[in-house]
Amino acid sequence: MIEELTKRLLNQNLEDPSLLKETEKFTPKRLLPDATVIKIGGQSFIDRGKAAVFPLIQEIKENLPNHKMIIGTGAGTRARHAYSIGIDQGMPTGVLGLLGTFVSIQNAKMIHYLLTNEGIPYIEPGGFSQLPLYLKERNAVVFFGMPPYTYWQRSPEIGKIPPYRTDTGCYLVSEVYGTKNMIYIKDEDGLYTNDPKKDKNAKFIPEITAEELIERDLDDVVVERAVIEMMKNAKNGRQIQIINGMVPGNLTKALNGEKIGTIITSK
Ligand code: ADP
Ligand code: MG
Repeated sequence: MIEELTKRLLNQNLEDPSLLKETEKFTPKRLLPDATVIKIGGQSFIDRGKAAVFPLIQEIKENLPNHKMIIGTGAGTRARHAYSIGIDQGMPTGVLGLLGTFVSIQNAKMIHYLLTNEGIPYIEPGGFSQLPLYLKERNAVVFFGMPPYTYWQRSPEIGKIPPYRTDTGCYLVSEVYGTKNMIYIKDEDGLYTNDPKKDKNAKFIPEITAEELIERDLDDVVVERAVIEMMKNAKNGRQIQIINGMVPGNLTKALNGEKIGTIITSK
């Protein structure tokens, strides 16, 4: 099979659909199937300060003996402020992406320092080669959730806000490493038919596929739309779970594979 693929890859246009289809015959390797990526929300969680963050840190510590956690951080309110000042001064999407990255770094630094006694390392994109080692040694790492696109952020269809932010950055880590799960920690029980903060009649959705969710075209969703779009082409990352981190015990339940919050899957 490899000879055939090599011959075609060397000679054919790399965008040829039949050639691309050929690469589907090879099973993708799940590099870290025992690990879980956890994203700690920026606006929805870390910005609530220690009342939200300290109990979660405690729960992370309690789970260290039993779970391997790749912990990413959101950006949040400070990034939104930076975007508004940047947009006012005519900054392009790529520069806004850079500004958001720094805020996500600030949050990752704080989570990292709250875990110093456990010896949990903080890694930046260049340090991801050490991720398997750190997980084996310490059972967790902290990283900043923004994907490192910075200036290379794609311009969005509407407006200027970088479309690939921290939900996406964390999702892509779970996709590339083929982790067991991708858990989003936010301040709502999961996905509703509308933002429950604005619509009291919003209905809870415990389970849905990415395809159905796109089809439903809800006014607002709980994760970046880019994640749901990307899930359509997932090779490994076929599940995300959104949980309410304000409820003690929820992270532990999700790490243990319990169906709490909302689970979004893709085919
Ligand atoms: P993060 O802090 O991870 O960036 P966001 O604040 O961007 O998270 O997104 C989470 C928020 O999305 C929730 O606090 C909720 O108010 C809002 N939201 C919008 N639409 C929905 C929906 N359909 N279901 C649940 N929450 C929603
Ligand atoms: Mg967000």
